Amino acid sequence: MSILVYIRNVNGKIKKQSLELTSYAQALSESLDLPIVGIVIGEIAEEELQALKLYGMKRVLRVNDAQYNKRVNRVYTKIIEQAVIETDAKYILFPDNNQGKAIAPRLSVRIKAGFVPHVMDLPHSYEPFMVYKRAFTGKALASVQVNTDRKILTPMLNSFGLRENPVDLTIEDFVPEIDEPQSRLNVVNKELEAGGVSLMDADIVVSGGRGLRSAENFSILEELANTLGAATACSRPVADDGWRPANEHVGQTGKIIAPNVYFAIGISGAIQHVAGVSGAKCIVAINTDGDAPIFDVADYGLVGDGLKIVPELNSLLKEVLADK
Ligand SMILES: Cc1cc2nc3c(=O)[nH]c(=O)nc-3n(C[C@H](O)[C@H](O)[C@H](O)COP(=O)(O)OP(=O)(O)OC[C@H]3O[C@@H](n4cnc5c(N)ncnc54)[C@H](O)[C@@H]3O)c2cc1C
Repeated sequence: MSILVYIRNVNGKIKKQSLELTSYAQALSESLDLPIVGIVIGEIAEEELQALKLYGMKRVLRVNDAQYNKRVNRVYTKIIEQAVIETDAKYILFPDNNQGKAIAPRLSVRIKAGFVPHVMDLPHSYEPFMVYKRAFTGKALASVQVNTDRKILTPMLNSFGLRENPVDLTIEDFVPEIDEPQSRLNVVNKELEAGGVSLMDADIVVSGGRGLRSAENFSILEELANTLGAATACSRPVADDGWRPANEHVGQTGKIIAPNVYFAIGISGAIQHVAGVSGAKCIVAINTDGDAPIFDVADYGLVGDGLKIVPELNSLLKEVLADK
């Protein structure tokens, strides 16, 4: 028996989310006394996979085959199903992103496993198995009981963090039996970057709303993001109005992110926006309206004009960082 972790292969690289997922699996394995096994699909070098051993991963099944470099959910599901059987996996973990959303439900039907998305923490009970998940766009937590023998979970980004536990890692080449064409469509992957830093992986995000009044005024946010090595983001109306690219829109209908620090500048804090950032460890809000709902969820708040505060904050931060 095992805990199987889906390791996302991004053009031959591993992202922080897979290390978090491995850390989560490690904590689960301590309670369940089960080994952790990773499955990675598509060409990837052994050296890249070595990062996993720092977080307790002892065995990885690697499908090192160029024909699987492009993700086709139907085919990936079948490959992972074969890995589930190979390792007798009782717990299967996916990231809580588009890949998890696309593959986990398909796999759950094929292997008859209960599936819990948006998992917030480790299980709070093992007999019966119960875990908290995010509900009602982040307004509530739901305690979900899973009764099936096999269970699929997608823990949310930043819900658990990284936990080091160095071990020795064995990488095994895994050759699945796939008897159908890899793809009937030519799918083109395009990873869009926000401010040079990927929004999904950024530790710091500087985000602006309608309070910034124009597309041009977003240059002050870009400068602050440059100083901090942060990604830029925005509220939905800002993207709808074309002030910022659509891939920067966060919230219920946009990206769900969980950076360490989220700057919300000129953003009112509507529930649909907060749903996308409630996983942030620290929210800093700047708003002219002291009663804006964003202050209900902010850890630090500044009541004032963002157009004046942001440039001042930027030059102060530049001074502080230059002294380091
Ligand atoms: C089904 C549905 C889904 C939605 N999904 C999303 C989503 O995914 N993401 C999302 O963001 N929204 C979403 N929305 C829209 C959401 O309800 C809000 O309308 C939107 O988030 C408001 O954007 P905003 O805060 O930029 O603008 P506003 O609500 O107009 O707020 C602007 C804020 O800026 C402040 N301000 C004004 N001038 C300044 C200044 N100079 N300095 C500092 N502050 C200033 C104001 O006090 C105000 O609080 C959705 C709505 C629906 C109905």
